[in-house]
Amino acid sequence: MTQIHSTCPYCGVGCGVVASHDEQGSIQISGDKTHPANFGRLCSKGSALAETLDLSDRLLQPEVHGQVSTWDHALDTIADGFKEIIDTHGADAIAFYVSGQLLTEDYYAVNKFCKGFLGTANIDTNSRLCMASSVAGHKRAFGSDTVAGNYEDLEQAELVVLVGSNLAWCHPVLFQRLSAAKAENDNLKVVVIDPRRTATADLADLYLPVQAGTDVWLFNGLLHFLRTHDRLNYEFLDEHTHGLGAALKTARDTAGSIPLVAQVCGLEEHAVASFYNMFARTEKTVTVYSQGVNQSSAGTDKVNSIINCHLATGRIGKVGMGPFSVTGQPNAMGGREVGALANQLAAHMDFKPEYLDLVQDFWQSPTIAPKAGLTAVDLFHAAAEGKIKAIWVMATNPVVSMPEADLVKQALGRCELVIVSDCARNTDTTEMAHVLLPALAWGEKDGTVTNSERRISRQRAFLPAPGEAKPDWWSVAQVAKRMGFGDAFAYEHHAEIFREHAALSAYQNNGSRDFDLSALTTLTAEEYQYLQPIQWPVTADCPNGTERLFGNGQFFTPDRQAKLLPVEPRAPKHLPTAEYPLILNSGRIRDQWHTMTRTGKVPRLQTHLSEPFLEMHPDDAEPLAIADGDIVEVTSPLGRMCVKAKLSKRQRRGSVFAPMHWNRQNSAAGKVGTLIAGEVDPVSNQPEFKHTPVAVRRYQPKWQGVLLTREPLPLQQVGDAEQAPLTEMRYWAKVRHADCWRYEFAGDSVVDWRRWAREHFALPDWLEFQDRSQGRYRCASVEDNVLQVCLFVETQAKLPARKALAAYFEKELAPADRLGILSGGSAQAGACDDTTVCACFGVSRSTIVEAIQSQNLSSVAAVTQAVKAGGGCGSCIPELKALLKQGKAAVA
Ligand code: SF4
Repeated sequence: MTQIHSTCPYCGVGCGVVASHDEQGSIQISGDKTHPANFGRLCSKGSALAETLDLSDRLLQPEVHGQVSTWDHALDTIADGFKEIIDTHGADAIAFYVSGQLLTEDYYAVNKFCKGFLGTANIDTNSRLCMASSVAGHKRAFGSDTVAGNYEDLEQAELVVLVGSNLAWCHPVLFQRLSAAKAENDNLKVVVIDPRRTATADLADLYLPVQAGTDVWLFNGLLHFLRTHDRLNYEFLDEHTHGLGAALKTARDTAGSIPLVAQVCGLEEHAVASFYNMFARTEKTVTVYSQGVNQSSAGTDKVNSIINCHLATGRIGKVGMGPFSVTGQPNAMGGREVGALANQLAAHMDFKPEYLDLVQDFWQSPTIAPKAGLTAVDLFHAAAEGKIKAIWVMATNPVVSMPEADLVKQALGRCELVIVSDCARNTDTTEMAHVLLPALAWGEKDGTVTNSERRISRQRAFLPAPGEAKPDWWSVAQVAKRMGFGDAFAYEHHAEIFREHAALSAYQNNGSRDFDLSALTTLTAEEYQYLQPIQWPVTADCPNGTERLFGNGQFFTPDRQAKLLPVEPRAPKHLPTAEYPLILNSGRIRDQWHTMTRTGKVPRLQTHLSEPFLEMHPDDAEPLAIADGDIVEVTSPLGRMCVKAKLSKRQRRGSVFAPMHWNRQNSAAGKVGTLIAGEVDPVSNQPEFKHTPVAVRRYQPKWQGVLLTREPLPLQQVGDAEQAPLTEMRYWAKVRHADCWRYEFAGDSVVDWRRWAREHFALPDWLEFQDRSQGRYRCASVEDNVLQVCLFVETQAKLPARKALAAYFEKELAPADRLGILSGGSAQAGACDDTTVCACFGVSRSTIVEAIQSQNLSSVAAVTQAVKAGGGCGSCIPELKALLKQGKAAVA
């Protein structure tokens, strides 16, 4: 058995993993017990990593204009295209849109190429969508983009305030660490502030269902409360900060009483008072914030309103205290470090004259981008207007993940040259590429990433490069070479790039900049290979890294003082109207990642939430005659989506939630980015993903169907909202099972289903049943006692249970099974299957509820012992707790 230590490629927790190969070549992934981010824990996504390693859907060869090509031809096409565009339109006609999925070495190479050699700063990363407001807030307060604390602080604190963070689903291992610490320490209290009562709120001692967009009022009110209750740390404020007076005045003027705050924030006065008192009396307080704060047209102000309260109490940079931003992506921090945001230059340096000279001197580059470039939303607007002629997209899927997603697609359609580097062959963005470059995937690529606590870890390869896939830094270096910059990109190994990156961080630094890897500039290849997780800065004074910053009250502003800001609260850009009365919030779900190109390969990760949905409060659904499981059309001024309704009292009245993961590859109209406007925060340019006014209406189809097939349907056969050969399917969603693919669909037009089935599946042997009076059609095709396809369409009755149908694909059929298939399987008919709660052991909600009730179970441990649920990665534990609570309530 060989074991390679690496890092999970999904969220910003940055868990260590161990990839173990046995002699037969099978690979297991487990949590790395030695990694300080997770100490062996993994969530549902991390523990399913081994199931994502196959080469299905992989891009394995370069393609140019839809034809398989050689690398030479593809790279020549890019280099020639860039040269021609620069000659004709200038360097600012070229742009890069890169990703928190890139390794730091890839990020460094592309940022250097763009800013130092092409001479444009038109490079932005999808981290803009995730934490640009935190970056901007940190810089305004600290003079640098510094996360002061670490994960241990959440365990050492006595109060953890989670704002706009569904930690249980989006940073599950950090949530597990917090839960374990709370279980061991009765003094550790948790406050959750979120318009949605998420799984995270189940851990809370106090839950505040704040009105979306009102966080600044809440934290301004807290600052005022701290002053009026004599809780300010004047010694720290006097010595290490300025701006207190103005910040206090604004706080008093805008949120000067608890009744006012409660009214604006839609909260009970006693709940606001409880929160303020808890914060005021608890020295060891950590405030964790995430996308619910950042993804807002006032995101930077929200961040500073939180930081103000920590600076005012001197609670920063010490054990168990501080503001703490958690990032969404595995290497969002690495992107910030190299400067791959359009408004950063490199190594945490901005576009200041002294830094322009410093960086150009270090790179020995022929030019340097003189000013900030276009940030994500503006960049695609410029492309739509024809100002960007060429764009290189790396490791991301902006046609799905950006706001104004349909405009982004049009923008790419307008570019003369679209290059996409990806490991996935079929995404909504690869469809738009003129040049496709096959990139290495996780498990094949090698380099470093930085997690949310500034910890640099190695991602190590444990698989050979498949096909002709190459590292992203290599593609960049090859294009640079073709454009005459070969000397500056003559890298033969990623370790050389890391050393150069470290050397730039140290260049003329002398403690003036927070990001400093001076002690890593001379790593040998072997030392790099065995580099252990380490938190920057790593300097001669701190050769083993730095656990916390700012504990000494020294910041990175010119006078070394932190700044409190007067933060005027303001409402979100777009408010509900009579036409669009509900507020749409978008985000992640527990078991999926980004646009599902990897987690979508794992059947068990699709059992928890398998179709695109809109979560809404029953009180909002009732007047619209919407029941749980109905198909609904959601519209905004920009577009529409068509998804299943999921009714939940966890949703605040007036707000709805849709996941960000579904796209054209797996649904007809499940892409939430289609609805979201490109409104951005004026300081950070981060888009407002959490506050889109929408209208919702029930869609009553004439028929609904379910198709299960051993081979997936080519996309063009299924159709979508834009180019639909089968426009009869107003709704469809694709779900992966272990041995088949399932398509849920619904529509209105008259369809000859018998003909439809035979046209789409060239199979000889069909079983069939039709009852026109009931509006029912069923057929199946069996070859050599193996089920190939089955199709069920109903106009009146409910469809059969899907699990029972999928089970027929897992076995050789006996004669009696043939009848069983057409009767819909042994299970009873039902609109939806029982939801799987525990993805690790496939345990359904009904099994858990039955065990709780029949065995009178009262703890998660007892549930695990009875039915195994919760005994794997632990991501389902919040839901188990909720079911236990419901069980107790039912008994009561
Ligand atoms: Fe990966 Fe889960 Fe850890 Fe995030 S919490 S890094 S997704 S294992």
